[in-house]
This record gives sequence, structure tokens and C-alpha cells, in this order.
Amino acid sequence: MEISQETDVLIIAAHPDDAELSCGGTIVQLTASGKSVVIADCTRGELGSRGTAELRAQETINATKILGVSTRVNLGMSDGNIQLSQENIHSVISLIRRFRPKIILFNPPYERHPDHENVHRLVRTAVFQSGLTKIETYFEDTLQNTHRPKHIFSYMQTYEFQPSFYIDISDYFDVKTAAIRAYSSQVFVKDENDENEPVTFISKPDFMEMLEARARYFGALIGVKYAEPYLAIEPVGIPSFGIWL
Ligand SMILES: [Zn+2]
Repeated sequence: MEISQETDVLIIAAHPDDAELSCGGTIVQLTASGKSVVIADCTRGELGSRGTAELRAQETINATKILGVSTRVNLGMSDGNIQLSQENIHSVISLIRRFRPKIILFNPPYERHPDHENVHRLVRTAVFQSGLTKIETYFEDTLQNTHRPKHIFSYMQTYEFQPSFYIDISDYFDVKTAAIRAYSSQVFVKDENDENEPVTFISKPDFMEMLEARARYFGALIGVKYAEPYLAIEPVGIPSFGIWL
């Protein structure tokens, strides 16, 4: 018998903290409304300049609880060297077929960190191949059924793109920020940071300010306080104007 489950939204990310930073508000909105959300981190972020892989693992557990997500998996790929290899493609296909998501959110195509771009390619390839019956994958020794999500969208990271749409996260911005602060070895948390650690792009106080300013700006564009932008990889249709009437 096939071991699988249905999931509303699967988030695939290169590193632990990518999900919190880029779509944390959306995740909290989903879990708060009872939707099933699974996060899959491709690596353990072991190349991060600050903290250790062990510390980051504990921070990830804490952040996951704050987001209200019950299932988070790690694909164990090597940080800084995510290849579009057959092994990695199969690993993502197996993930998609195991959780059978309706929607996948994943890293954008053009990014500052090469791992982010590589995961974008990897997911695009895996989503396509996951629908092919001749590509066989196994989970716990059982042959998996094919599966393709209905929609795939990229969240925004460092580099901007022209968003296809925005999600209103005004009610969830505080929880998103709390989940990000759980990564206290990586980001600036007042009175908690180790001054002996190297300063990185995301460990400066400016980074959290930038994150809030951007969410506020995107919110302003759609007339709400805070929003997260998304890129539709495929053309998206809406059922009718009825969703606004
Ligand atoms: Zn990342």
C-alpha cells in the first residue's frame, strides 16, 4: 500500500530560515486557519558563518513550533553545493510524492545566494518529473504514485522580482518576526547576540528593519499593513470575479 498523505502547502527551501524569512507570515496564516503545511529544508545550513549546525537545528525546531507547523523534514543535501543531480532530483520527487501538496512554495529563480537558484531549478525539474510514471521513486521501500501540485509559486528573498500577487499577512507579522528571532545565532536579537561571532548580511540590525520596511511597502501596495509577494511560475487563472464580490 502506498504510504502518502495529502498536504495543502509544501514549502521547499535551500536553508533552514529561508521559509521563515520569506513566507513566514503566509505559513502562520495557513496553519492558523487549519491548513496542512509541511516545510522541507534541503540543507542544514552547515556553511553558515555564525553558530553551529547543532544550534541551528535547535533554532529550527523552535521556529517551526512558533509557525504552528507539525511536519518539517530535512533532505540532507550539502550546503553551498546543491547540484541538479539525479540523486537530488529523485529526493525532491520522492518528497513531492510523499506529501502530495496542492501548492508548492519555493526559492525564486534569480537570487543572491546560488543555492537558492539551484533549489529553484531542482524543484522545477522535480515537479515535472514527479508526474511521469516511468520515473520510479520509493519511500520506505514502497513504490510511490505520481503527483503534481496544482500550483507552484516562488517566494521573494534578497533580490526583487515583479510580484504576480501579494498575500496579506498583517495579522501574522508579529508571529513571523518571532519565528525569525528564534534563529538568534543568525539574525540580530537585542542583548542576545554573541559579539565574538562574525557579522553577516542578515545579522545586522539593519536587516530586520529592511525586512519590516519591505513587508510594509508591499502591504501599502495592496492597502493593508504587511504583505508577502509571490511569483507565479505558470499562468494563474481565478475562477471568477466572484472571489471579490
Ligand atoms: Zn537561504
